[in-house]
Amino acid sequence: MSIADYERSERIQFDPDGYAQETLALRAGQHRSLEGEHSDPIYPTSSYVFSSAREAAARFGGDEAGNIYSRFTNPTVQFFEERIAAMEGGERAVATASGMAAILSTCLSLLQQGDHVVCSRSVFGSTVSLFDKYLSRTGISVSYVDPTDLESWRSGIRAETKMLFLETPSNPLAELTDVSALSEIAHEHGALLVVDNCFCTPILQQPLQQGADIVIHSATKYLDGQGRCVGGVVVGANKEMEEVYGFIRTGGACLSPFNAWVFLKGLETLKLRMDAHCRNALAMAQWLEQQPGIERVFYAGLESHPQHALASRQQKAFGGVLSFEVKGDQAAAWRFIDATRMISITGNLGDVKTTITHPSTTTHGRMSPEARAEAGIRDNLIRLSVGIEDLDDLKKDLQRGLAAI
Ligand SMILES: *Cc1c(COP(=O)(O)O)cnc(C)c1O
Repeated sequence: MSIADYERSERIQFDPDGYAQETLALRAGQHRSLEGEHSDPIYPTSSYVFSSAREAAARFGGDEAGNIYSRFTNPTVQFFEERIAAMEGGERAVATASGMAAILSTCLSLLQQGDHVVCSRSVFGSTVSLFDKYLSRTGISVSYVDPTDLESWRSGIRAETKMLFLETPSNPLAELTDVSALSEIAHEHGALLVVDNCFCTPILQQPLQQGADIVIHSATKYLDGQGRCVGGVVVGANKEMEEVYGFIRTGGACLSPFNAWVFLKGLETLKLRMDAHCRNALAMAQWLEQQPGIERVFYAGLESHPQHALASRQQKAFGGVLSFEVKGDQAAAWRFIDATRMISITGNLGDVKTTITHPSTTTHGRMSPEARAEAGIRDNLIRLSVGIEDLDDLKKDLQRGLAAI
């Protein structure tokens, strides 16, 4: 069989059309080499060899498709891009060195001096720093709104608004935004709606199908799922992704092939892991809500959550992250955290191992006390990213925390 025949063979080139998401997670972006390997191959190479000087010139000139240099394209990275694009239902994905590189490249490639962004006030801390400290220097301005209130979004929009940016559900208080309603508002004003889908993953929510224009992921979290690598990805229509790709190719924040391979392996088990995360988190949230030492639990799967109906409509399940306030002050929250023995004290989330975090002194510690108060992040708040350990073992560990308040 010639290489051309081989490349046309359906057995090695998976056509994603018509397959369910569970199948896409395993098989989209599959391109076997002539070795016939079953697992996805890693191509750890910085550059590629041309068969002639003429071919090199044709590739550099853009007259012929093909690899040149791994900052531009790398097969393993492209497999990951194809798989995540299929799972989100987007035309194209561009992989990046981190979740923050995904946000940076989206903004710098699609916005310019004088443009304005309306952003949820409940987004990842580094996203706020990126907007306020660095994007502001380029003449791109950002204002912040209440993510749960469509009127607040509407009143934040100006003539020069080009982008609306949000996470839903938010971190750590699980505030939701109605993506389909907000997409109409964005499009009435000619603005792009960008959703950081890190908490839900395409398994629980596909924002592009609900009207969003661009989806961003920190692949570091659930897509990897086992806390091994830092990476990110942007998904959307070809038109916008061509701009994002151009920026990454030139700006250099590309994903390494090894990390792309880890994410490919992560995607294969994403559905199973998300099911287990969601099941454990719902059970933990319901259990915590009944404990006398707990003031309030924030989890959209609870009927007490003010946006439970929206969450049930917009998401397939409620995710693996919850937060709760202990009855007491910051010292009580720290005593709770320090009394646990198994659960990991770390700022990361989305890992198969349960992690516990004190947001106001770590992940959200750089916010001013006023901004924290406005966002509702109190000193007695604890965030739990619920893993897939045995539920009774998790409860036993949290009981140690409860006893220490
Ligand atoms: C972690 C995170 C990011 C940043 O991703 P990195 O991979 O750490 O750069 C962005 N958004 C959300 C919601 C996150 O949790």
